Amino acid sequence: MEITFLGTGTSYGVPVLTCTCPVCTSPDPKNKRTRSSLWLRWEGTSLLIDTATEFRLQALGAGLRQVDAVLYTHCHADHVFGFDDLRVFSRLTNRRVPVYGSAATIAELREVFAYIFRQTERHQDRPWIETNVVEGPFQVKGLLVQPVPVFHDTLPIFGYRIGNAAYLTDCRTIPHASLGLLQDLDILILGVVGFKPHPAHLHLDRALELVEELRPKRTYFTHISHLMDHETVSKTLPPGVFLAYDGLTVHCP
Ligand SMILES: [Zn+2]
Ligand SMILES: [Zn+2]
Ligand SMILES: [Zn+2]
Repeated sequence: MEITFLGTGTSYGVPVLTCTCPVCTSPDPKNKRTRSSLWLRWEGTSLLIDTATEFRLQALGAGLRQVDAVLYTHCHADHVFGFDDLRVFSRLTNRRVPVYGSAATIAELREVFAYIFRQTERHQDRPWIETNVVEGPFQVKGLLVQPVPVFHDTLPIFGYRIGNAAYLTDCRTIPHASLGLLQDLDILILGVVGFKPHPAHLHLDRALELVEELRPKRTYFTHISHLMDHETVSKTLPPGVFLAYDGLTVHCP
């Protein structure tokens, strides 16, 4: 399975509007972070986790031409505002694009994009979507997808495990039962916003504790804020732990 980080920024993106800090003004392309989303491919199948604010630009940059399904983590703006651009993919295939999420996420998506779901007849300039509420494991094109419940502040949201890779963004706490779903991973992807405890997200030290506990073969941090300079922070990370950056592709056995 190939995994591409379409975006690796926290909800503000980096650079943050109006900010003149060293990271926001850095010439290092790895310090330019669009909102977080992941693209997975295996055996001709193409799957997205979230459609971030810059989804269209991310897809153009990565050469994404096919979407077989989208898994949604939660319905915050930074994770869903690329939703309307899914219309291209329903037009291409003349089929509904299947999207998956918790009951709360799907209900909120229907509310936020009411104009899309209100259509009684198919409108070629709007996405044509099939929503699927999931609670436990399900199949996408023959591959098992396991939702991993986590807390984003007090909001219950989903991370996902697909094969031996897991993606947990916007996560503050991982319930004990979910830790059990994260054993024997080849790749763990964690959202880490900065250095200090945050009410809604993991911070670096807590994320490193989780890595110690779960012992995945490799770990990538994403959903990164402007507090983290790519090169400086990368040098401090233990072996097998990396800061992701926009456009990075990794292979999961
Ligand atoms: Zn977010
Ligand atoms: Zn800044
Ligand atoms: Zn969020």
